[in-house]
Amino acid sequence: MGLHLYDTMRGRVEPFQPREPGRVRMYTCGPTVHGRNHLGNFRTYLQEDLLRRHLEASGFAVTHVMNITDVEDKIIRGAAEAGVSIDQYTAPHIEAFFTDLRRLNVLPAHHYPRATQYVPQMLQLIERLVAAGFGYPAEGSVYFHVGAFPHYGALSGLPAAGLQAGASGRVDSDEYDAKEEVRDFVLWKASRPGEVAVWPSPYGQGRPGWHIECSAMAMALLGETVDLHCGGVDNIFPHHENEIAQSEAATGQQFVRHWMHCEHLLLAGGKMAKSEGNVVTVEALVARGVRPMVIRYLLLSGAHYRRRLHFREEELEAAAEAVDRLVGFWRRCAESLPPAGGPQDGAGPDLLGAAAQRAVARFQAALDDDLNLPAGLAACFDLVHEGNRLLDRGEASAAGRAAALDGLRTIDRVLGVIEVAAGEVAVASALSPEEQALFDTRERARADRDYGRADALRADLLRLGIAVEDRPGGSRWRRV
Ligand code: AMP
Ligand code: ZN
Repeated sequence: MGLHLYDTMRGRVEPFQPREPGRVRMYTCGPTVHGRNHLGNFRTYLQEDLLRRHLEASGFAVTHVMNITDVEDKIIRGAAEAGVSIDQYTAPHIEAFFTDLRRLNVLPAHHYPRATQYVPQMLQLIERLVAAGFGYPAEGSVYFHVGAFPHYGALSGLPAAGLQAGASGRVDSDEYDAKEEVRDFVLWKASRPGEVAVWPSPYGQGRPGWHIECSAMAMALLGETVDLHCGGVDNIFPHHENEIAQSEAATGQQFVRHWMHCEHLLLAGGKMAKSEGNVVTVEALVARGVRPMVIRYLLLSGAHYRRRLHFREEELEAAAEAVDRLVGFWRRCAESLPPAGGPQDGAGPDLLGAAAQRAVARFQAALDDDLNLPAGLAACFDLVHEGNRLLDRGEASAAGRAAALDGLRTIDRVLGVIEVAAGEVAVASALSPEEQALFDTRERARADRDYGRADALRADLLRLGIAVEDRPGGSRWRRV
């Protein structure tokens, strides 16, 4: 059947077809780095991770780009208040973002372009728009002339889209009011006196607007047409509507083949949002002893991505039980495997192997059906239930147990929870260069039989949250 996904532009579930067979160019809107990302942000990033993993498991070669918005009003204000450069101001927030992504076992994107590093590309795009009559300078800023782009509003379905205040907290609706029409939006913002982040441009000193950033970086890294563009539903309008207008006005090409948006995570009935002050962070939960894989599991499986999810503390417990049940069955299958080459137990009818095959097929079909993870997990728990019953009765052959483990592994390549929760593999991400250097130094100390130093370095690594285990073939690390 192949992957079917809901497309926001066409408003229906339809077959997903990238432009080039077998290859997917995927762009996901990333964070603004002026504070710690909350569970709502991570719900969206996790659903995007689920989609990416399912695409890869289905045989697609994916190139994934996620931007980092490291210049905007709040960042400029925060840096000025702290008396530091915007780079100094954003650095700890960027690091915290990557720490949380790693904790949640999110596959790293292939590129994390930062807005401040793509200003020339943004200016080029703005100049193209001005030359083609879609952009106009006014008082040192540049605006997009919405009236010149007849398809404006097609994504959000709001005919008078530009007349409404944006749903997201990040709307360029501030004091830039030199525009000709209320629905026009800003491409380039003239700098104000004393601002710490300014770039020269043909229009005077200034900085890019938020929307142009994603158009320019997506095109620079993925080409004029991307296969898949994702974000939370609050990005639909105005952010993605504006991205389409800017990109298509400049290139004359379709900007995005397929739009995927994740519904919100709610807290106490309202959208979890920094601006509302009702946020919970991964850091806060981890500090209270909640396992990151439980957070991952809850945010992925609590509801289908097109439904809202209410974050309730009690549900962490149910999620922990579900994770433990998966891990328990995984271990049961793994531990009861006979050693390779050892005696095998009776063949018998291989019920467990057949159950595993059915579960994998159902899981894959559920994900092909607009990423229906709740249905996929139902298949997985049917396998656990049936498998435990067969194991209790001694009716599972070694081949069956191996097949069950294999099936769980296949499922977990997409789910990304069980192996990490079982402590069998470290999270997908690599060590940072500093961590790697420390790890390598310890390996050398061990090779030199300098065990005192090796122990001290092991303790250093542990303080960074990296547990090192020495094995005959070399040491292994995992994040704890
Ligand atoms: P922001 O930094 O606010 O642009 O958010 C980064 C990403 O998180 C975007 O894709 C947003 O749509 C998404 N997002 C923000 N708040 C929530 C929420 N409460 N639930 C789900 N996704 C969210
Ligand atoms: Zn974006």
